[in-house]
Amino acid sequence: MRFGVHMSISGGMEKMARAAIELGCETVQIFSRSPRGGKARPLDPRDVARMKQLFQEHDIGPLVIHAPYYLNLASADEDKRSYSIEVLAEDLTRAEILGADFVVTHIGHRDRDESDGSQALRRVIDSINEVLGRYSGPVKLLLENTAGQGRELGSHFEELGKLVHMFPRDRVGTCFDTSHAFGRGYDLSDPEAVDRIFPAYDRLVGLDTLEVIHLNDSKHPLGSRKDRHAHIGQGGIGLEGFRAIINYPGFGPDMPGIMETPTDTPTADADNLATVRALRNMQYDGGQEG
Ligand SMILES: [Zn+2]
Ligand SMILES: [Zn+2]
Repeated sequence: MRFGVHMSISGGMEKMARAAIELGCETVQIFSRSPRGGKARPLDPRDVARMKQLFQEHDIGPLVIHAPYYLNLASADEDKRSYSIEVLAEDLTRAEILGADFVVTHIGHRDRDESDGSQALRRVIDSINEVLGRYSGPVKLLLENTAGQGRELGSHFEELGKLVHMFPRDRVGTCFDTSHAFGRGYDLSDPEAVDRIFPAYDRLVGLDTLEVIHLNDSKHPLGSRKDRHAHIGQGGIGLEGFRAIINYPGFGPDMPGIMETPTDTPTADADNLATVRALRNMQYDGGQEG
């Protein structure tokens, strides 16, 4: 697994790249725009070129873009839905300019009046088809599993699998968030359960669709359906869970493992990176050291 963190771009792309090098990131995730909304600032070609060169020199990749959280591809409000389509297509274009391979998005949530997600999922399929019609370049769109908070779609592997299989494999894949899965009731704290959860993901979603893993511990307990990330090893999943996840043999050595963990201390990112590095290549041996 290649490790990285979600980095801020508030000081520009070159500054972000230098901070990623300083941390020893092997891969990086960013927002391409302010996650709070508003029109995206145009990208400065010279700043982008310097970032790309630094990443190349330091073998950092892939670069992953996370779409803004306020999108709702499932919205029953046509204006909101078409705005979400517009922003996501724009983010795919921006990702290509930035040299990114993937754009990760949440799937959306069903309307207040809807008792199940079937209509909402139909709108998501329409929305994604519209996005793919507007952007036809090489950047792949990744659908992220959710904790199933409120009316959020895409928390069950079954639902995520059905959705991703509606689209061409080379255009749409998946991103797996450990904290979201734990929140939905997949017990990643238990190494033996980890060895059942990923084969289930393979059956229902396909490990061949999985391009990015978000490594986050969870502040809330198993099945809480709440989405609050904790430092690696300091939440419900714990170190043994992460040791099993990071070393799961079904993931290739280049699988990006990106942390979206709290930045509550100046060394938080460095500390989390040190933790996952220490766990890498330490195969789970049933709890016995040796
Ligand atoms: Zn996300
Ligand atoms: Zn995530």
